[in-house]
Amino acid sequence: MPIFDYHCQACGTRFELLVRSGQSPLCPQCQSAELEKCVSRIAPAGKIEAIRMAHRRVAAAQGHFDHYSPSDKAKLLAGKKNI
Ligand SMILES: [Zn+2]
Repeated sequence: MPIFDYHCQACGTRFELLVRSGQSPLCPQCQSAELEKCVSRIAPAGKIEAIRMAHRRVAAAQGHFDHYSPSDKAKLLAGKKNI
């Protein structure tokens, strides 16, 4: 059985859990089922990730390209020129 890293969307707790298939895990802190499975332990802390996602949403809503990497930005701009 694999052990997964989870991040609770409700209270922000990060924890490891042994998950049986077909079983939906709950946050040990607040019993919330709104959990985000973390792909890698190297991933940034949940709080930083949340802030980053919020910035991306704002940037996307305002039409900025700041949330793209320089190479993606170049690709997007190149694509626009072709239209
Ligand atoms: Zn929680």
